[in-house]
Amino acid sequence: MTKTVLILGGSLAGLHVAHALLRKRNKDLKVIIVSKNTHLYWNLASVRAIIPGQIKDEAIFKPLSDALSRYPKESWELIIGTATAANLEEKAVEVAVSDGTTRKVAYDQLVMATGARSAAPNVPWKAADSYEDTVKILHDTAARVKNAQHIVVGGAGSTGVEVAGELGHEYGKTKEIILLCAADKILGGDSVAAAAAHELKKLNVTIKYGARVAETRTTPEGKTHVVLSTGEALSTDLYLPTTGLLPNTEYLPGRYLSADAGYRRVLVDEFLRVQDARDAWACGDVVSKPRAGFLITQKQAANVARNVELALAGREPAVAKDPPADIFACSVGRDRGAGRINSIRLPSFAVWLAKGRTLGMQRVQGYVDGSVA
Ligand SMILES: Cc1cc2nc3c(=O)[nH]c(=O)nc-3n(C[C@H](O)[C@H](O)[C@H](O)COP(=O)(O)OP(=O)(O)OC[C@H]3O[C@@H](n4cnc5c(N)ncnc54)[C@H](O)[C@@H]3O)c2cc1C
Repeated sequence: MTKTVLILGGSLAGLHVAHALLRKRNKDLKVIIVSKNTHLYWNLASVRAIIPGQIKDEAIFKPLSDALSRYPKESWELIIGTATAANLEEKAVEVAVSDGTTRKVAYDQLVMATGARSAAPNVPWKAADSYEDTVKILHDTAARVKNAQHIVVGGAGSTGVEVAGELGHEYGKTKEIILLCAADKILGGDSVAAAAAHELKKLNVTIKYGARVAETRTTPEGKTHVVLSTGEALSTDLYLPTTGLLPNTEYLPGRYLSADAGYRRVLVDEFLRVQDARDAWACGDVVSKPRAGFLITQKQAANVARNVELALAGREPAVAKDPPADIFACSVGRDRGAGRINSIRLPSFAVWLAKGRTLGMQRVQGYVDGSVA
């Protein structure tokens, strides 16, 4: 009898799992993907895509239907919609479909891959609620970047540093670029923080330390007042907040989620199985453990696909493995970077070669042709 694997989320985690299952061409398996977006979004390159003319939409947005249509059509279904309520006892998920209808989708195995969104609205660092919204936010941001003379980037984590680096590379000599860092070191005090700060300085980016944003206000003239917790206020043409990720878990009952008030990620065991549930798995940013990251997402997606297959065969799951090394690479503009493998520092050139040159865009095709899995 045909078994159904329901995957929630069609991004880097969800599409990876789908490919891993579908490429086996198991006639007794149907994969259903529920995705808010019709397209995969290579958000890792969003930091450069906000610089007008740098990256074409076609390079970072790929239709999910193109990726799936290589498999027999009876083996998959793509539902464009939002998972709104998951009942892990009944083994069914309610979906608000983009055509305005609702559907209840029953499953044998469930994979949660709904990731995490940016805490700030209208920024292009992660997919928005639809492909059209994501493209619009990206284009609007690029237009505002072009017109601004003074830009403030809020938050000096890796997204903030990469955004500031891209702005510095393109406009460091013609616009004022300020990076706000709440602490006394960027990148959360990672061992490569000083190297990244040094690269930013070369691109004329000013880093303001101890600068935690308390509130922002837009003026009738279109400027933004960024008020810091110290009371100091900056007036800027464009404020780009990069802080905060919120796991997309609102459709799950609270007992499956971590208790942190602002950060409710899915709790999983060593098999990436949802704690206290049966036949339900999670991977990628929705788990955010050990942290939210692409290489971790890839590894987890492969682990979950294997455990789903084992479960379908009535076998015990395998313990999920972490990536073999802790790699941290931060691109700083189009020809620099700072990074490390475990505790070994990488030269700026090596980070550029491995990451900054393309921001991983050469990997996108693997999500279309399935070779990623
Ligand atoms: C600017 C930026 C740069 C980055 N660069 C790097 C990097 O260089 N290296 C690295 O290791 N990591 C990087 N990351 C992290 C990387 O992007 C994430 O780890 C990765 O995107 C996780 O993929 P995911 O599929 O788990 O989740 P997401 O990419 O968040 O995708 C989740 C998908 O699920 C959809 N969805 C959400 N809720 C629902 C719902 N209820 N129903 C249906 N669909 C839903 C969303 O719309 C989205 O399409 C970067 C992150 C950012 C923000």
